[in-house]
This record gives sequence, C-alpha cells and structure tokens, in this order.
Amino acid sequence: MKNRTFHQARVSSREFVNPGMVEIVLEGEGLGDYPSTGIPDEFARLYFPNNDAGLIRHPDIPVALGQKRERSVGPCHSEVYTIRSFDRVKRELVIDFVVHKGGKASTWAQGARQGDPLVLSSPHGMYRPQTWKRKQLFLCDATGIPALARILETLPSETECLAIIEIADPTHRYEFQPSCRLETVWLERSGNGVAPGRLCEALHSLPPARLPDYVWMAGEHKQARAIRRHLRQQWQLPCERYAVAGYWIEKRAEWMAAWKDIEPALKRRIETSWSSGRDREEIRDEVDAMMEEAGL
Ligand SMILES: Cc1cc2nc3c(=O)[nH]c(=O)nc-3n(C[C@H](O)[C@H](O)[C@H](O)COP(=O)(O)OP(=O)(O)OC[C@H]3O[C@@H](n4cnc5c(N)ncnc54)[C@H](O)[C@@H]3O)c2cc1C
Repeated sequence: MKNRTFHQARVSSREFVNPGMVEIVLEGEGLGDYPSTGIPDEFARLYFPNNDAGLIRHPDIPVALGQKRERSVGPCHSEVYTIRSFDRVKRELVIDFVVHKGGKASTWAQGARQGDPLVLSSPHGMYRPQTWKRKQLFLCDATGIPALARILETLPSETECLAIIEIADPTHRYEFQPSCRLETVWLERSGNGVAPGRLCEALHSLPPARLPDYVWMAGEHKQARAIRRHLRQQWQLPCERYAVAGYWIEKRAEWMAAWKDIEPALKRRIETSWSSGRDREEIRDEVDAMMEEAGL
C-alpha cells in the first residue's frame, strides 16, 4: 500500500560499528519515494514492531506489515533517529543506533534480524548554515555522531571544523570520513548516561580566537539547554548561527513522572507560551526557564 507520509522498510543487515553503536541497513519498495531532504542531520520517527504481535500499528497504515488488520495490534514504540545515509537507487537507508541500557529502540536494533519490519515517517533536518560557513563548531554525545558524520562528509575542503564529542568508553570512537578540515576532541567516559556530561565545560573553556561562525549541538536535553543559553547569552549568537537540539532525556521515566506532577498553572503557562505564535527562540528561552523552575 502506498502511503505519502509513512514508509515501510525491512532490515537488510545489522553490524556493530563499535561496541557502542549498531548499524542497521533498511531496504524496501517503501523507500523508493522516501522524501529525503538532503539536509545532512535529517531525522525521522521510527515505528517499531509491537512486541506481542510483531506488527506495526500506525493510523496511516491501516493494514500492518503482516497478515492481521491494524485493530488487532496494540500500540507500538516509536523514537526519532538520524538518517545516516540514503541511497534512492538501491532503496537503502542506514541508521546508526547507540547501544545503551534499558532502551526499547536500542534493544530492538541490537537484536534486529534480516526481514524485520520498521516504519519511518518523512524526514526533517535542522543543520542549515547560511553564509557563515568557514569555521564550524560541533558538540555532541554518541547520539549526535551519525548526524555529525554525515555533515562532515558534505562540507567543502576549506571549512575548518572543531568537533568535541563525548563518549561512554574509549572504544566508542568513530572513524569520520570528513571532506573538510577536522580537529576532533574526544571526551571519554563522559555523559551518555554513564557520567556527568562535559560538553558545557568544554564550550566554556574555548579561547575567544576559536569562536566559530556556526555551532551545531546534539545530546542530552539538559546539556543542550545549557549550551544554547551560553551561545545566546554569552556569545550573543543570532539564531541563524546555531542549531541546538536535545536528542534524549536522562532518566526518562523519572522525568516523565515529574512532568506529569508539575503544577497545572505552570503547565498551562508552558502550553500558552508554545502556542503564542511569537519568535520561536524567545519562546524556547521562556519555556526553558519555566522547565528549570520545575526542576525538569
Ligand atoms: C533529531 C534526533 C536524532 C536522533 N538521532 C539518533 C541517532 O542517530 N542514533 C541514536 O542512537 N539516537 C538518536 N537520537 C536519540 C534517540 O531518539 C534517544 O536516545 C531515544 O530515547 C532512544 O530510545 P530507546 O527506546 O532506546 O530508549 P528510551 O525508551 O527512550 O529510554 C530508556 C532509558 O534509556 C535512557 N536513554 C535514552 N537514550 C539514551 C542514550 N543515548 N544514552 C544513554 N541512555 C539513554 C533514557 O533516559 C531511559 O532511562 C536522536 C534523537 C533526536 C531527537
């Protein structure tokens, strides 16, 4: 069945890039018209098979990837992942999953077998440097490595890049194939749910001469918030010169429980702020402050 928004795929192969990352190659007819944006950090929502039924349920895919009808399939897990690469001719799409404890998506990837089904949403990207391309700074933890790797493969040779990357273990270093000039700083046994993150500290210690034209950051959401604040308040960067995203939430279950329990009045203020239609970055400043007030 053809679907404009969601794309059906199957696992073609699984390979460990290193002990901290597993690479899944997906294939299938449903990828023939996959609307890749070409933005190198593009990401999609992945819908994983329901553990009980082995099928995927989604409102826009009425017949699941098997014999049974959708109404017989319970809810399925979904998460957002980066499209590491996409080959339209081969109808092949690659996703790199970080290995971490307790994650349904991560566990699925580690055990994925040829033929296992997966559904993807259409992708979006956020990395869009405009004219300030010469010196770029990248900060991320392991979840940002797939996007960073793809970005570095697209940049012109004269671009000077500094990438500061925190990883759980020295064996999780990644072999980039940059088309630009690249200096890499690895922060080992740092962040990634195994230790306090050190990306903010690394950012604060950069000498003024290293100030970049464009900054891209991806990682745990509290670090992302602190880094974004530093870029806006200390470095006074306009929003066209940075892209910062919280890719995951540490101790997510506790965080969700705390979010559920926050004062209804504060929740209303947050929701009102998001729907106010004002400048998005100003809203984000306001919401970040309110979330911090709530300890989230
Ligand atoms: C735009 C975007 C792009 C992303 N791209 C990638 C990508 O290419 N590769 C990738 O691996 N991830 C990527 N992520 C992050 C990924 O979506 C999250 O890590 C997600 O929570 C993993 O889902 P899960 O089902 O494995 O774990 P969950 O069920 O969400 O979480 C289970 C437990 O694991 C913890 N946890 C979640 N993620 C991590 C982690 N990375 N390290 C340590 N502990 C963790 C949670 O706090 C929770 O306690 C991206 C996220 C976004 C928003």
